[in-house]
This record gives sequence, C-alpha cells and structure tokens, in this order.
Amino acid sequence: MNDQQLLRYSRHILLPEIGIEGQEKLHGSHALIIGAGGLGSPAALFLAASGVGTLTLCDNDTVDLTNLQRQIMHRTASIGMNKVDSARAALAEINPEVHVNNLKERVESARMHELVAQADVILDCSDNFATRYALNRACVQLKKPLVSGAAIRFTGQVSVFDLREESSPCYHCLYPENAESEDTRCAEMGVFAPLVGIIGSLQAAEALKLLLGIGTTLCGRLLLMDALHSGLRTIKLSRDVNCPVCKS
Ligand SMILES: [Zn+2]
Repeated sequence: MNDQQLLRYSRHILLPEIGIEGQEKLHGSHALIIGAGGLGSPAALFLAASGVGTLTLCDNDTVDLTNLQRQIMHRTASIGMNKVDSARAALAEINPEVHVNNLKERVESARMHELVAQADVILDCSDNFATRYALNRACVQLKKPLVSGAAIRFTGQVSVFDLREESSPCYHCLYPENAESEDTRCAEMGVFAPLVGIIGSLQAAEALKLLLGIGTTLCGRLLLMDALHSGLRTIKLSRDVNCPVCKS
C-alpha cells in the first residue's frame, strides 16, 4: 500500500479487526451488487469508499425523477442516464482506485451463475422476487455468501445467507417461492427515504465483515427495522430441511 492509500484507509487500518492486512484483503475482493437503486446506492457507495477492489453493478434501469428522493448515488443531472453509468461516475469520484464493472442488464439465470461465480460476496439490492430467487439459486449452487436486503414503506429487513456454511438457511427457506410471491413495489406502496439508506448500509457492513472474516454476521438471523416507531429486532432463522433449493 502506498502513502496515499495508507491515508485514505487510515481509519480502517486503526481498527485492530481490520488493519493493513484486512484493508489489503478488501482491495483484493470482488463484490457483486444486483440493483443500483435505493439499497444499491448506499451499499455501493460504502463498499467503494471502503476500498473493495472490484465492484460489479447490475441494473437495466435508467435514472428518473422519482428515484432521486432515496437513490443517493444518482444526481438530478443524471436523469435519463443508465443507472449503472450514473453509479460508476459517482463511485469514481469517491474512490478512483475501485474497478467498477457496470452492466446494464436484467440478469437472467445463466448469466447470474457466471457473475456470482466471479464474486466473493453478493448483495441482493433488487426489487423483485424473480431476481431474488435466481440470485439465491446461483449462490446456493456456488456456495457464495448472499447479503439480502429489502425495504418498503417504513419497514426493512436484512439477512445473510452464508451458503459456505452447512447450517445456513437460504433465501428460499425464508420465503418459499409460490404463486403468491407477488412483488410489492415502491411505486405503489411508497418508501421512507432514509430507510433504504439504513438497510443498504447494513448490507455493506455485512458484506465487509464477510470479506474480512470478522465479527458475527446476520447468518441465521433476520434483522427487522421499523423506521416509523424506531424498532429494531432480530429473529432466528433455521434451514428448512425440505427446502427444494438448498436441500443437499
Ligand atoms: Zn433453502
């Protein structure tokens, strides 16, 4: 690490849990972020600022005016741009050392498999069940840690499915796929702006801990946030032994 890097990351390096060794580990790491919206914004901003060496961002959307209330990676001047291009520009301004792959695509399962295989940690910042299930399936197959987040109205949730561990539940154990897996969209329900910031930031924190191998993650637990009444609680999650996705 050169002098500039030692300075840039000095507040991480001061933490005994991270240090120079941990910071170098982050530099050599690759995070895949699916979705460059409300959750993906704070997640990508913090991972880039933290010095995660490679970020792959996937989103097939363009920035519009209704996004700007909460998708803090995008600017008024970015309206009409691809979200991933707007994101790459914002991330480069914060940390030009980070390599950003910006993929303007809605990722289908074969491609998902390929992208997950290349990453060390995967952040689900998407807004629909089809993507969530496909991403979970790829992470189960490839035994990759998945950090899942969701937020609607005033409630949010985060969990980690660390599929490198035998005992870890997967996303499907928590939300079995069925005909009622209907998307509840921010466009219809509304969402409180700082809530996506909190949930996306928690996803970044869990991803960094997974990359560094420090602390205790939310694996086997679901963190629930009620932003309206300032409630925060975690509930235990168990693996569904009959889950068709992760049953070995
Ligand atoms: Zn499962």
